[in-house]
Amino acid sequence: MTTVLIKHLGRYVNQEVQIEGWLFNKRSSGKIRFIIIRDGSGQVQATLVRDETDPELFELASSVTQESSIRATGLVREEPRSPSGYELTVTGIEIVGGSQDYPITLKEHGVDFLADRRHLWIRGPRQASILRIRSEIEQAIRDFFYERDFILADSPIITALAAEGTTNLFEIDYHGEKAYLAQTGQLYSEATAMALGRVYNFGPVFRAEKSKTRRHLLEFWMAEAEMAYCDHEANLKIQEELVYYIIQRVLQRKSLELKTLKRDIGKLEAVSLPFPRISYTEAVKILRDSGEDFNWGDDFGAPQETLLSERFASPLFVHRFPAEIKAFYMKPDPEDSKVVLGADLLAPEGYGEIIGGGQRIEDLVLLRQKIMQHNLPEEEFQWYLDLRRYGSVPHAGFGLGLERTVAWICGIEHIREAVPFPRMLYRIRP
Ligand code: ATP
Ligand code: MG
Ligand code: MG
Ligand code: MG
Repeated sequence: MTTVLIKHLGRYVNQEVQIEGWLFNKRSSGKIRFIIIRDGSGQVQATLVRDETDPELFELASSVTQESSIRATGLVREEPRSPSGYELTVTGIEIVGGSQDYPITLKEHGVDFLADRRHLWIRGPRQASILRIRSEIEQAIRDFFYERDFILADSPIITALAAEGTTNLFEIDYHGEKAYLAQTGQLYSEATAMALGRVYNFGPVFRAEKSKTRRHLLEFWMAEAEMAYCDHEANLKIQEELVYYIIQRVLQRKSLELKTLKRDIGKLEAVSLPFPRISYTEAVKILRDSGEDFNWGDDFGAPQETLLSERFASPLFVHRFPAEIKAFYMKPDPEDSKVVLGADLLAPEGYGEIIGGGQRIEDLVLLRQKIMQHNLPEEEFQWYLDLRRYGSVPHAGFGLGLERTVAWICGIEHIREAVPFPRMLYRIRP
């Protein structure tokens, strides 16, 4: 008999198939037993009617416990009332592995209780839906770049470079030498862009964030693009196309998951191109007009980002930040050197910054000056300066935070649910 994924049951209506999964839940109603089986791809309700089922099988179905692993065979039926549209009439059950006293019951649990059992919590339909959407978003990112001829060029995780200064870095012992876990792969991507033209890297980055927020993890994934012969405007355009592409993919392919999460889909459908753009200076005016005590030169925190982005249905670009609050490599605006040609992309609904990006300084002399002004060790940056010594070109790039994007698209409260095993200020286990 064919073994099929639950998400594909619709292809097998009126056929007998086998599914391999776990018992999520069961109910009974008079002569009927309902068992809900999940297999990672989705879940399905399977039914057994007492008078129409072999008594031994009926007994087995009644006794199987939550999270036991089972193989079940059955006839696929259309069932418009079920979320997936299908049900299974069970013809056989085999228990593969039993499960006693499963700790996560169907009643409400506190978040610490669940976080301590993250390895089991991810089995629940909400968490599994988030992780399936995360997977779709990762694939969408790869497809987007692939279709546009970007080369995937991975950057190192262990580095001797404190890219943007040593705060927030995890230090490691590299056979007696001081090294760090990368906060970003950007500087390396600038080098690969000079070799390959348009590149991206996509992997985990590490920041020893000291504050506890709903948006910061200590280990998170970033998709970072870097483009040779690219300016600020072209950089914004590719960012908005990427974010729009991701949303459309999730809407098309993960509608069941969005439904499970009770996501307000209208909010995602309302996102349209081009995204609104305001300058930092305009943003400061908006904030002050709204009564915020905020001065030109300050960096935004969560309240300011929320206040600004809530006014728009699509993500909002805030561009031309003061040079002092941005990284040393950001290119000053030729029309006003107090600000740089960079932008943050703020997600709607208060999810905050999902992308940071900008055009890079291509001039050797200016870049050296900036390294000095920022008190960075010039010796460590010799290879990076080489990129300006040998065929320097205007170039730009950006980094998209995967978990922030997942949290926004899923409409979840806290970023800890956007990754299988979150690393947070007070949590490193499991
Ligand atoms: P924030 O201002 O929110 O601290 P950032 O400006 O420090 O973010 P960047 O260095 O610009 O972040 O990194 C690019 C993207 O990575 C951000 O736009 C965000 O989506 C994501 N990001 C940054 N820090 C974290 C974190 N600690 N946890 C999860 N995602 C993060
Ligand atoms: Mg930060
Ligand atoms: Mg920021
Ligand atoms: Mg940023």
